[in-house]
Amino acid sequence: MDYRLLYKAANNYEAYFIQGLLKNNLIKSQLLGENLSVGIGELPIDVIQVDILVPKNKLNESIKIISDYEKNLKYKENKIEWICKDCKEINPENFGICWNCNK
Ligand SMILES: [Zn+2]
Repeated sequence: MDYRLLYKAANNYEAYFIQGLLKNNLIKSQLLGENLSVGIGELPIDVIQVDILVPKNKLNESIKIISDYEKNLKYKENKIEWICKDCKEINPENFGICWNCNK
């Protein structure tokens, strides 16, 4: 089958996680680079990038899954601290005033 590069994971754990996400959507993926760590004993395992490949005919579907994953990641990174009383928008904790209505 014809495989295409979908995503470069930062480490093995992320690669396996994404592979799991794809599997949940019935997409079979291949990981490239996960065994490199065997030859590079000095480097911590988490600095090794892993390429995730998916079948060409599943690429578009997979890109959508990955972009949802990245959105969730960003959402978690921004700690949500408060909700504006005036417009009900959610503001990150480091915002002093509402980003939406400046109140
Ligand atoms: Zn507001």
